[in-house]
Amino acid sequence: MHSSEYDFHTTHREMLSSTDSLQGPQACSHDGCDALWSPDEEEQRFCWNCKNWFNLTCLDNPTSDQEYYLQKMKEQYHSVPKIIVQVAFQPTARGGETHFVAGNIRLVSSARLLLDPEARDRVASEGWMIAYKLEQDMKMEGGDDIDGDDEWQAYLEFMHNIDDKQRRNPMEEQLSVDGQEMYTCPICLGDHQL
Ligand SMILES: [Zn+2]
Ligand SMILES: [Zn+2]
Repeated sequence: MHSSEYDFHTTHREMLSSTDSLQGPQACSHDGCDALWSPDEEEQRFCWNCKNWFNLTCLDNPTSDQEYYLQKMKEQYHSVPKIIVQVAFQPTARGGETHFVAGNIRLVSSARLLLDPEARDRVASEGWMIAYKLEQDMKMEGGDDIDGDDEWQAYLEFMHNIDDKQRRNPMEEQLSVDGQEMYTCPICLGDHQL
């Protein structure tokens, strides 16, 4: 079966389109900083709390590595499928050597919406997820239940048009990029990691 035959809940798409307004401005929001952003040369990080973008080079030293931070988030969101937590709490970034110009904000945003159990319930009752589970059940021939992570990974990849070929190609957008360092937001401080 071809997954594009299935339309999914419009609310998720509508909520996602609200992230378009978060794409600018094309400068660093660090207090007193007037540096512009050159996507080819400079990575920017986004803070979900103050909704600002910062040039990576304007941030203080890294405060933790991504794996450590992710481990903490997995403990905090222990009832959420791990793949959702992993995508939701990776650095939200754009530009530079590691990221594309458009960055991963829509991807991260869609995973953050799925932290909410009601949002997951809605998706689970939609045509796409029902069809996916049916297809997997047939493959398993009534055997083991499918892993909750697998179906959410498939859903996020479907939403963002990531196919098998793309998943193995570092030149294409991936669900998550591992091995990055995290920074503290210069405006929000405290627990707000970029
Ligand atoms: Zn700056
Ligand atoms: Zn902030």
